[in-house]
Amino acid sequence: MYGKFQQYLKDELAAIEEAGLYKKERNIESSQSAEITLADGSKALNFCANNYLGLSNSPRLIKAAQDAMAARGFGMSSVRFICGTQDLHKQLEKAISDFFHTEDTILYAACFDANGGVFEPLFTAEDAIISDALNHASIIDGVRLCKAQRYRYANADMADLERCLQEAQAQRFRVIATDGVFSMDGNVAPMDKICELAEKYDALVMVDESHSAGVVGKTGRGVAEQFDCYGRIDIFTGTLGKAFGGAVGGFTTGRKEIIDMLRQRSRPYLFSNSIPPSVVGASIEVFKMLAESNELHTKQQDNVTYFREKMLAAGFDIKPTQSAICAVMLYDAKLSQVFASKMAEEGIFVTGFYYPVVPKGQARIRVQLSAAHEKEHLDKAIAAFIKVGKELGVIK
Ligand SMILES: *Cc1c(COP(=O)(O)O)cnc(C)c1O
Repeated sequence: MYGKFQQYLKDELAAIEEAGLYKKERNIESSQSAEITLADGSKALNFCANNYLGLSNSPRLIKAAQDAMAARGFGMSSVRFICGTQDLHKQLEKAISDFFHTEDTILYAACFDANGGVFEPLFTAEDAIISDALNHASIIDGVRLCKAQRYRYANADMADLERCLQEAQAQRFRVIATDGVFSMDGNVAPMDKICELAEKYDALVMVDESHSAGVVGKTGRGVAEQFDCYGRIDIFTGTLGKAFGGAVGGFTTGRKEIIDMLRQRSRPYLFSNSIPPSVVGASIEVFKMLAESNELHTKQQDNVTYFREKMLAAGFDIKPTQSAICAVMLYDAKLSQVFASKMAEEGIFVTGFYYPVVPKGQARIRVQLSAAHEKEHLDKAIAAFIKVGKELGVIK
């Protein structure tokens, strides 16, 4: 049997490669940080990690992970409700609730699981999920797993959201689902307007803070802080894999009864292993660090401002970001790939994105700025952009 299937896979893989969409992995032989070492021993500056607060390699977090592992062991060998809940899990859930000003939190192995398990336990075919067109794949999959009626509005388009809300009035409950920050443009969801419409049309609000938590808002508490929407958002999801240390893990946080119901019915929670003590212990430390000081967030924000200003001054076309994500627009798909590979030759890791990841004719280089970057890192990256940009005729 495998022979025919193998040939089919080989053909499909060749087609992926032919279309230039084959994803290759680069081996890093150092920890994740601003400067990384590659397999050939060369060094590169990393501008494509989600290491927004520079915590992936934090000595304080490594110590906290080691301490938690020494005290509570390596693995839990259980799901949460059988025998996989330690005091540490409850402490982390409390720390996340405090951070987001919510009532309770439920941990998952990943935010992919949090989103996969959030809709199906709460909504039925009588209800409606109204989803932003650019929401993350995990929200899309979560919606697919739920029998609720589906509505989709154009990215951050409030007139279109209003149209969906009007169409969904016949349903029992309505929930609006949105990313906090959209990963390709770095734009934020207009939470104040979304909450206003939710109130006008009697809908719940769910926001995924994966790219916004730790980054957006006066003290990095995400879009609820940025738009002062506390108390108006019912469900937040997020990841521990980006700003909050970058290891692994996700969560849903929000209203008490919602979290209670997820603990009873959410399938990725009920049927998947508990997060290991090392990750939980270090994550508790992350929220302690963020409560103590806003220094990392401030540095991250300053880096975005610095990079943007220098790049605009050099003549690059940059999307108006409100996050750690800076889209350097090139428009042409091939150019984005050539540009990214020339940047790699200069020792700068950035990613070139083109259709179908972004709309046709909207190819770009995505730069992700971190508190791990020092001024000299930024200057090197900007110098490389200018050099390659001139070489390829993108700037004069
Ligand atoms: C990264 C990301 C996720 C997935 O998070 P994991 O914890 O890595 O599964 C989910 N939603 C959004 C918006 C993300 O950016």
